[in-house]
Amino acid sequence: PVAAPPQPGLLGRFIGKGRAEPAVRRVLDDEMLEQLEELLIASDMGVDTALRVTGNIAEGRFGKRLSTREIKELLSAEVARIMAPVARPLPLYPRRPQVVLVVGVNGSGKTTTIGKLASQFRAAGKNVVIAAGDTFRAAAVEQLQVWGERAGVPVLTAPEGSDPASLAFDAMTRAQAEGADLLMIDTAGRLQNRQDLMEELAKIVRVIRKKDPEAPHNTLLVLDATTGQNAVNQVETFRKLADVSGLVMTKLDGTAKGGVLVALADKFGLPIHAIGVGEQIDDLAPFDPEEFAAALTG
Ligand code: GDP
Repeated sequence: PVAAPPQPGLLGRFIGKGRAEPAVRRVLDDEMLEQLEELLIASDMGVDTALRVTGNIAEGRFGKRLSTREIKELLSAEVARIMAPVARPLPLYPRRPQVVLVVGVNGSGKTTTIGKLASQFRAAGKNVVIAAGDTFRAAAVEQLQVWGERAGVPVLTAPEGSDPASLAFDAMTRAQAEGADLLMIDTAGRLQNRQDLMEELAKIVRVIRKKDPEAPHNTLLVLDATTGQNAVNQVETFRKLADVSGLVMTKLDGTAKGGVLVALADKFGLPIHAIGVGEQIDDLAPFDPEEFAAALTG
């Protein structure tokens, strides 16, 4: 599986500024740092993180001559260092069921990610149940049913417009009765009315806790990498709405520049459990910090 965005790396663009040879040496001065900062910001890394990265690179090296290759290696190492602690697969608990609440704005890839995760856990021999908790979006429920069929996993639904918390409660009851390993609950992503969404998510949590006081064991926030720095705002918003425990970053196969992952790791330190690298069921990969850093700075 592809584990990093395929875009031309940052240093590719740096070299593009007329210094094509990786062995060409330049003095690490203010001008070079500014150029690097611009490139990092252009990769969606955000100003704060870009400044921190270039600051770390400059430390003890200011005024020294460095080759393009050395700069690339320093940058790559710095990115990998920031990303290493957040690269963690979804932790599995011996709960029956382990409850995974999946949140995110509409279009971020929630449905698709649930389908892909269900398929991976099925393949690992886990007994999975999905609850189609976005009961106000008939299309989302249908999509989830299609994914459930593909993954060979039952999808519990409720009539359109019915209370998602009541569906979540029924799903908990069934998953417990069946001794399921994992229950994934989809949720609505209507950010237009935050108060509503907050109450809806809080109610889901409240009712499933009647069945298991520790549930949900994970609250996954699904983010679309092509929204760039916007993903930072989404983390901030959803952390107010739910107890976000980890991230999945989708659409890293497309035009996303990927730098926002570094900003997220730097700002929030939330684990990145997986990355979406396509629209097919197998297009969910573990996040590999080294590979990502190499691709970003390549
Ligand atoms: P939801 O509204 O959050 O449930 O989003 P969906 O799961 O319906 O996904 C929205 C669109 O993004 C769909 O067209 C998906 O096929 C697409 N999508 C989701 N994940 C990925 C990904 O990792 N890569 C690409 N290229 N497309 C994706």
